[in-house]
Amino acid sequence: VIYFDHNATSPLCAAAREAWLAAVERFPANPASPHRLGARAEAALDEARQSVAEWLNCSPLDVVWTSGATEANNSVLHDASLDGDGEAWVSAIEHPSGLEAGHCYFGKRLRLIPANRDGTVELDWVEREIKRNRPRLVFVMAANNETGVLQLWRELLRLCRNHQVPFACDAAQWVGKLPAAGLGECDYVTGCAHKFGGPVGVGFIKVPSTFRPLLRGGGQEDGRRAGTQNVPGVLAMIAAWKDRELKLARGERLPRESWRDEFIHRCIDELEGTELVGAGAPRLWNTVSLILPELPSCRRWVVKLDKQGFATSTGSACASGKEKPSHVLKAMEYPDTMASRAVRLSAGWETTESDWANLREGIAAIAEEAGRGASQINRGSQRS
Ligand code: PLP
Repeated sequence: VIYFDHNATSPLCAAAREAWLAAVERFPANPASPHRLGARAEAALDEARQSVAEWLNCSPLDVVWTSGATEANNSVLHDASLDGDGEAWVSAIEHPSGLEAGHCYFGKRLRLIPANRDGTVELDWVEREIKRNRPRLVFVMAANNETGVLQLWRELLRLCRNHQVPFACDAAQWVGKLPAAGLGECDYVTGCAHKFGGPVGVGFIKVPSTFRPLLRGGGQEDGRRAGTQNVPGVLAMIAAWKDRELKLARGERLPRESWRDEFIHRCIDELEGTELVGAGAPRLWNTVSLILPELPSCRRWVVKLDKQGFATSTGSACASGKEKPSHVLKAMEYPDTMASRAVRLSAGWETTESDWANLREGIAAIAEEAGRGASQINRGSQRS
């Protein structure tokens, strides 16, 4: 199987696997325990905190380990809801962990920031509304999990700063794919390891000094997140993140961006009726969301592709098991008839140029088999 579903979860990379196995051997104790083995585990977590702080540009004291981005996003919205009766403004294209936590903790005080047709969040809306009514929190992701569209988080942060409004950024799809530098300036930043080759079940939040915990119990993480820390998980996340930051520093993202672009151009050229979602906006180098032509008898592209040996998705992993059209494409004003033909293709660092070429041929073969062949597929056509 050729795996094109890294935005749902990315298989453990070699560096993370090695770090996880080493950590299980070297740090068997609970970091809260009063013996030397406990202190050693705690020191390893502190060193890991230092690495995250360097990548994000923040203080290591502001980094809290979590079980992943869902917990981190819930923690952010819970914390923000404890202050007065202000609103939370959460973008309409957030991951369900931001949207549902917003509903839960803010109820009627949740407002959705609309999206543009290109998949970016409406900056103008925030600019206009923030002058009338200061919310308690603005919450917008760094990169969208379904479309890969990059959001203007730096501009949103600046705007929020100017109006003394806290800004939270869900960076789950940005970290490990693009440099994390500067994200630490946001009041809250959330992320998780399994989107970039670390293990499932571990993540982080960068929090403000006033942060109050969602999970209560033991005094771990300086009272900011109760529960025994996942030491091997954290160390494996750091190893994967380090590997990805090194790749980024060496410019290894550029050829991957060109493989993605070649794939898109050829699909659009060769298969009539194909549309790229978020075409006008900057997007993650690994993600392509395509509206593909209709297949006869309501056949689904993901099922057909799966049979051909390609693991792909219709949207977020949470939404893809259901038949409901994606809320992200809805917010971008795609009609349901088009949204139901959307396929999300998300590569990883280990995906090769020939994987992209094979995927394109797989899509073409399905279209041909479905009878949209000769007349609609311009095989071998030249890209302008
Ligand atoms: N935020 C975004 C943008 C995501 O893509 C995801 C996972 O799909 C999450 C949050 C949830 O992450 P986790 O699986 O670590 O809870």
